[in-house]
Amino acid sequence: MRAPDAMSSQVNERQDGAMSMTEDGHMHDVVIIGGGIGGLSAAWRLRDRDVLLLEAGDRPGGRLRSEERGPYWLNFGAHLFGEASSPAGALADELGLEARPIPGDRMGIAMKGRLVAGGRSETFPLRLPLDLASRLSFVRMGLKLRGGVMQLLKVQAPVAGEGPAERRMRQLAFANAQTLEAYVGGLTPQVAGMLRTITERTAADPSEMAAGYGLTSFAQVWSKHSFGRNLYGGSSRLPQAIAAALGHRLRLGADVTHVEQKGDAVEIRYRHGGTEHRVMARHAIVATPAPVSARIMRGLPADTQDALGKVRYGPFLSVAVLTGERGPMPWDGNYAIATPGLSFGVFFNQASTLRVGPRQPGGSLMLFRGARGAAELMQRPDAEIEALFRSDLERLFPQAVGIVKEMQVQRWPLGAPYSFPGRAALQPALTRDLSRVHLAGDYLEFPCMDAAISTATEAAARINTLLDAQRPYGSTTGLRNTREPKDA
Ligand SMILES: Cc1cc2nc3c(=O)[nH]c(=O)nc-3n(C[C@H](O)[C@H](O)[C@H](O)COP(=O)(O)OP(=O)(O)OC[C@H]3O[C@@H](n4cnc5c(N)ncnc54)[C@H](O)[C@@H]3O)c2cc1C
Repeated sequence: MRAPDAMSSQVNERQDGAMSMTEDGHMHDVVIIGGGIGGLSAAWRLRDRDVLLLEAGDRPGGRLRSEERGPYWLNFGAHLFGEASSPAGALADELGLEARPIPGDRMGIAMKGRLVAGGRSETFPLRLPLDLASRLSFVRMGLKLRGGVMQLLKVQAPVAGEGPAERRMRQLAFANAQTLEAYVGGLTPQVAGMLRTITERTAADPSEMAAGYGLTSFAQVWSKHSFGRNLYGGSSRLPQAIAAALGHRLRLGADVTHVEQKGDAVEIRYRHGGTEHRVMARHAIVATPAPVSARIMRGLPADTQDALGKVRYGPFLSVAVLTGERGPMPWDGNYAIATPGLSFGVFFNQASTLRVGPRQPGGSLMLFRGARGAAELMQRPDAEIEALFRSDLERLFPQAVGIVKEMQVQRWPLGAPYSFPGRAALQPALTRDLSRVHLAGDYLEFPCMDAAISTATEAAARINTLLDAQRPYGSTTGLRNTREPKDA
């Protein structure tokens, strides 16, 4: 197989506006647009083909981002991986990465200076500093959410003979007519504030998100026996491992501007290093966030174009904190602590899986805010956000005074695509057969790494089948490139 970078056999000077255009004069099997975990996992599945992955940013991984710091790592994006049976867990295992289970029941809520952690969540109303009306309101909310989750789990149960697209549609349609706020009914302001904080990690306010979407986020936590796993060394190890296997077939800094099916091929145009490029492929996987896909794709059916534009995203803001404590800290036994009333809404202890054996000095935290709170904070300069978060961290845990060694702000304007009332009606247009162009991404189901990976893996499987079907009858070589890439 020829290396895409070495394939500029034919350089055409075109009069497309002011820019010249380079063409590699070569028909790729597949070009993938977007090097988040979706696009990367598709490229991994298609690595025996002539595949080219175009990523606009300067690193692979999209919303997975971590940076190593000695024995610790700073985390800025996705961090909770499922068990080995989940798509993200299986991919990490397949690539030989170490995923460590987050030990025990490590979730808590901090309110008015009291940290309530561990034990059954039903006992929280009794243990939190709430007045009587709020205690009752909390219990009512808990019962309503539990009831909804029980119904949802029935809907989520696999149905024999059903494909993934039908399963997604069924789950999206569950409780999709009203908001979560309307579904839970009236709450005291204190409990409404807690619900808002707890659900912010889904990128929307209870008044914006569909009830079924909010219930799915609770089901994800309540139906699992463990909290999940962290990648040892940080989440970025997964995209980095795939990027290393792809070698020159991953092109960073390639900003795709145009994807269009033309006859039996797809034309992709992108800007790279100040030059405009055009490549052709038998198939393309568009694994960019929905608004980007809507902008760069041409010739889509009107309802698909419309549906892509209607997908809604909420923002996330995270601040990664490297700490330099010399001994144990009060959060050592916790992974996630909801912090209603503070500038950040969740405190994550990213060193949780390292707390085995003697306590080593130092640590790593991620202070997180989602939805409207994040949108407001994002307008401020980094230094202001850091000062605010640091002061609230020290208010929450006075032991944190003087231990912060490094802080880094990460804004995610497109934090997560959330489901809103009526969202299910868009699904058929988003999952229809688009011939040689295939959509993938977390916006096609409940947003998480598993959604991105499974939609991209399904697109890759479809393409493999189609390419195999195009193999000339009797051909022994066919279109499949069975050689491993030289730097895999
Ligand atoms: C703070 C945070 C915490 C999270 N926590 C978790 C968690 O614990 N567990 C979990 O499962 N999920 C979590 N998620 C969600 C998870 O990160 C996403 O669902 C998943 O990473 C989405 O992957 P994707 O490939 O669909 O999209 P993305 O990661 O957004 O990838 C899209 C890629 O397309 C690229 N791109 C955009 N435009 C262009 C263009 N024009 N040309 C070329 N490339 C382009 C982008 O640069 C990006 O790399 C979290 C997300 C955030 C932000």
